[in-house]
Amino acid sequence: MGQGNKNSYRFEAEFIRILSIFETDFIAMAYRKRMNEIMENAQAAFDTASAAEAVDVVLRMAAGLGASDAHIDPRGDGVAIRYRIDGELELAGIMPRRLHEEAIARLKILSGARTDIHAIPQDGRFAVELSGEPYNIRVSFMPTYRGENAVVRLLPARAKAQDSFASLGFTPDQVSILDAALSAPNGLILVTGPTGSGKTTTLRVCLGLKAREPLAIMTLEDPVEYEVPGVRHVHIRHAHGVTFASGLRSALRQDPDVIMIGEIRDNETAKVVAHTALTGHLVMSTLHTTSAIEAIVRLSDMGLERYLLASTLRLVVSQRLVRKICGECGGGKSDRNLAPDTCRICRGVGFRGRSVISEILVVGPGLRELIGAGASPVVIEAAAKADGFRPMKEDAEEKVDWGVTTNEEIRAALYS
Ligand SMILES: [Zn+2]
Repeated sequence: MGQGNKNSYRFEAEFIRILSIFETDFIAMAYRKRMNEIMENAQAAFDTASAAEAVDVVLRMAAGLGASDAHIDPRGDGVAIRYRIDGELELAGIMPRRLHEEAIARLKILSGARTDIHAIPQDGRFAVELSGEPYNIRVSFMPTYRGENAVVRLLPARAKAQDSFASLGFTPDQVSILDAALSAPNGLILVTGPTGSGKTTTLRVCLGLKAREPLAIMTLEDPVEYEVPGVRHVHIRHAHGVTFASGLRSALRQDPDVIMIGEIRDNETAKVVAHTALTGHLVMSTLHTTSAIEAIVRLSDMGLERYLLASTLRLVVSQRLVRKICGECGGGKSDRNLAPDTCRICRGVGFRGRSVISEILVVGPGLRELIGAGASPVVIEAAAKADGFRPMKEDAEEKVDWGVTTNEEIRAALYS
């Protein structure tokens, strides 16, 4: 008993020290050197911690580092704790093997997953406050050869008030286009891109802007990720047989002005979305396509008649995320004093934060006619360019010229 208490006490002292660094000295914490120290402390904490304490450290460090995900991977030598920060995975420490099963069990209890099931994938969720900020946590469990693996996604529950189209990386011209499209009372606005391209964040900013107006705004999501004040968020449970299409039909009886649908992924949803947009509602959604023009092709392939598409589609934003060169050290490529390995902002990574690179297709009268007439993507793109459409590649190259990001980042984002 004495041993356990002593360890627990040592852990607590260490833990409070780590937390005090996070909470009172966040900037200094971010020095790579200091970071290593924290990692070592976390390592020391792991060595003596209980599983519940270790899980707590994993979550608090994730929040403190601004990580979007924490990966808990059992390996031969222990359990690797890795964080995804600005899209890249970083190893934070190795948790002793002895804590593995209990830490997974602790996460399962927190997230409402079954602790007696180990052989099949599970997922769960819970809400928690970390360093005074509320978070929604989603956990996915997967059996691996080395034991159960857990990936924890951290979603800040409070939308960042400072988020705007400009802060996400849209250029002033693009911001004007987006604002103009949002001022329309009806029609369809699409945000496209692969998973992890920031589509949800862009839509959240759209919703935040519309929420300033006296409108009834609803979302249908699976799951609800961020709450926007003044918006009715509805969790669509595909697992319970509710679909976006059936949810949307019910939502229309709620007298909405603006509706956001998580994703258009089937023919039925595409049709209900188009009819909703046609009947006086502003509808926003996402689609998995690589370019803005491709969205037209995809919706046609889903069985949406061209005339319907032509009369409802107003705007397609296609986007990716790239890492921004650290403003403090210049990513080690400038002649500034700070060498990247001592940078207190990026911890020597050379990048801090991310920016969108994007292309925005505005469907004006000319394009509407072409889309309705069933024109090919090549013809539509040529007409769009004549109307001022700038392909994503140009936006990306401009961001390299401005020193926002690097060619390597652009290549990774455009061709991955
Ligand atoms: Zn830096």
